[in-house]
Amino acid sequence: MPYINENYLKLSAGYLFPEIARRVREFAAKNPEAKVIRMGIGDVTEPLAPACIEAMHKAVDEMGRRETFRGYGPEQGYDFLREAIAKNDYAARGAGVSADEIFVSDGSKCDCANILDILGHRNVIAVTDPVYPVYVDTNVMAGLTGPADARGEYGGLVYLRATAENGFVPELPTAQVDVIYLCSPNNPTGATMTRPQLEKWVAYARKHNSLILFDAAYEAYITDQSIPHSIYEIDGAAECAIEFRSFSKTAGFTGTRCAYTVVPKALRGKTVTGETVDLHRLWTRRHTTKFNGVSYIVQRGAEATYTDAGKQQTKALIEHYLANAAIIRQSLTIAGLKVFGGTNAPYCWVQTPRGAKSWDFFDHLLGNAHVVCTPGAGFGSAGEGYVRFSAFNSRANVIEAMKRVAEKL
Ligand SMILES: *Cc1c(COP(=O)(O)O)cnc(C)c1O
Repeated sequence: MPYINENYLKLSAGYLFPEIARRVREFAAKNPEAKVIRMGIGDVTEPLAPACIEAMHKAVDEMGRRETFRGYGPEQGYDFLREAIAKNDYAARGAGVSADEIFVSDGSKCDCANILDILGHRNVIAVTDPVYPVYVDTNVMAGLTGPADARGEYGGLVYLRATAENGFVPELPTAQVDVIYLCSPNNPTGATMTRPQLEKWVAYARKHNSLILFDAAYEAYITDQSIPHSIYEIDGAAECAIEFRSFSKTAGFTGTRCAYTVVPKALRGKTVTGETVDLHRLWTRRHTTKFNGVSYIVQRGAEATYTDAGKQQTKALIEHYLANAAIIRQSLTIAGLKVFGGTNAPYCWVQTPRGAKSWDFFDHLLGNAHVVCTPGAGFGSAGEGYVRFSAFNSRANVIEAMKRVAEKL
């Protein structure tokens, strides 16, 4: 028998979403007539933009002709896509990211996990609480933490609490941390980091030689003009930050799969003996050895999001979800709940009524309103007393779900 990676055994019992699915299945089995509305999922519901479909159809046809057929592409992505990203997502916002600092991939979830490949084992790693569970679990799997305690928190990780008091943007760490995960707009709280807040984090990272892993998967949902979409809009960030971006939530590519990671050439790490090493070189090596590129067809689809028609159509998709978020925010506020987020993000972070535990409120809404939300406690101990409502749904479902929740509070 082979030895296993025992770090997997440290993972605290049950991933959040399977547990939600189990409870919903159980409820549906006992109440087959109930029409359950899922307001818990972090997956898009609306079809792809026509510009993307058209570009992918054309690419499929190219693959069917000898003269235009393509085999392996560059591991880092085709230049046409990397250049479109550099121009539209960075140059247009005054952030100097060059095309060869962009690594196209099949998802930000994998990139967030894979980045640990090029980092050493001695780093002090900070995560926010509540947190996107992938950041924590991948550190556990890589053996970078101790076991979980009674609250499900792992030894060796620094938890930065995001609470109503600090507007769900954590304070700077009080001690040295080497790697920091930040997500803005945030999943699950829907909070965004302002320019002064980001400047403070970049200043901390530069002073302490820390690396910020900045997840901007929801940047397209930012409506407030003053909020940066990229950490590279902050001076000096290219020396201390890696940014993850994805077409999943911005263009509905959750099932199509395309994302990218920016690793600036100015980024440095060090060896145990104190030698300085270029992180861009290491990530290039990892990417070319362990990855063979995203499908040509999909990259053409992603490129189409930057055409005039593509921009307009994806903007309409985002506006649909943001209008849902506004309905959720408004309905739950009128119903007397305290609601955060939902203006620059597709998530509303809602305080449970009467101090209910998040799983109890989840069960109450499922049992009485037949509406599924996500219990905040599943994102970390600071998420206790909150639930997350997702705006990824049809308009009709959102309206119906909000009506039922208001009646059954
Ligand atoms: C959805 C999501 C992503 C995107 O993941 P993909 O693998 O690109 O689909 C990244 N980060 C967060 C926080 C997310 O919620």
